[in-house]
Amino acid sequence: MVPQPTFDEEVSSLIYSIHGLNRFGVTSIIDNGGRWPYPEAQTRVDVLARDNRLNVRMPFVDLQLGDGGPVNMVDLELEAITKTAAISPGQNLHPTLAHGHEYRGAGEVLSGEVHDHENFDRPAVIIEPEKMRRFVEQDVMKLVQRRIPFRMHVSYNENISPFLDALEKVNETIPLDGLKWSLEHAETINPENIDRVKKLGGGIALDAKMALHGDGFIKTHGREKALETPRLRKLVDSGMPLAMTTDAFRAATFNPWVGISWMVSGKSVSGSEILAKDNRLSRTEALKLFTNGAAWFMNTESEMGVIAPGYLADFVVLDRDYFTVSEDQIKSISSVLTIMDGEVVFGAQDYSALSPKLPEILPAWSPVKYFGSYHGEK
Ligand SMILES: [Zn+2]
Repeated sequence: MVPQPTFDEEVSSLIYSIHGLNRFGVTSIIDNGGRWPYPEAQTRVDVLARDNRLNVRMPFVDLQLGDGGPVNMVDLELEAITKTAAISPGQNLHPTLAHGHEYRGAGEVLSGEVHDHENFDRPAVIIEPEKMRRFVEQDVMKLVQRRIPFRMHVSYNENISPFLDALEKVNETIPLDGLKWSLEHAETINPENIDRVKKLGGGIALDAKMALHGDGFIKTHGREKALETPRLRKLVDSGMPLAMTTDAFRAATFNPWVGISWMVSGKSVSGSEILAKDNRLSRTEALKLFTNGAAWFMNTESEMGVIAPGYLADFVVLDRDYFTVSEDQIKSISSVLTIMDGEVVFGAQDYSALSPKLPEILPAWSPVKYFGSYHGEK
């Protein structure tokens, strides 16, 4: 086994990851669940929150994988938030920063049994519809009853249909009635299911994996299908709550500009055309999916994502003008000044003197120390 990082090394890694986000102009993220469950997963962020060194607003969604065997993840979630360390949706663990470290519900995997892990080099994973319906009626139901927001990973339309069949049924007995819930990825969702999600008051958090893996998708599913994956135009025009995500750190790049470039130009990072011309977004629409659109998923749409009086003081100065540079430059955009909560959290070029000093990189042999971070900062 390779040497495991110490707690201090993990905190250092987190500091430099956040620095990387700030470098691309990111001031808030949602930690959408990972290998460690609540409350253990939050301890590293707590260290930074306590000393007021958390340079990004970082609400979290909790994913309980258990210890590797078959488990009921929804039951584990309920146990964690009611017994192990009681917490309610919207409760902020950060002592001072608004929405600094807030619990935002369960997800984005709610069951290993109905998880349609997406790998575009392989055929779609289709879950037995009855199994999906049963899961929603038995387990998602428990979250709805307790008014716990949830996010559900479903990539393929074939699996979204039975999920919605059952959620519509749940809604008849216990109305969702504004409870925040969303589908994650929903890569191949069709127009009919888009309307059904909207009707149930849900949102869709897309991801930009096609920007990276579009060529693989074409080989497996064909170009025609790729051109409308996902149906960006239809989704935006529906007016439903919609975000683009990076699906980082585990599944894709954390750099939002790679995704923005794909939505606007229709091209993957390899240069292939993978979005139909009438399925691309304007620069304003694409940016909105990473700003005010995404704020809905944090329950902060009236506080974040717009530069206006009354909104939180998070904004960036970019190294070039996003609205006028040529399309092929969008993916290389980065920040020269990132302000979060009225404080400078990142500065470069003319603003580098304002950048907060970072602690020594741990472990001492970390490649970041010698080569810089992603996209060659050094
Ligand atoms: Zn996912």
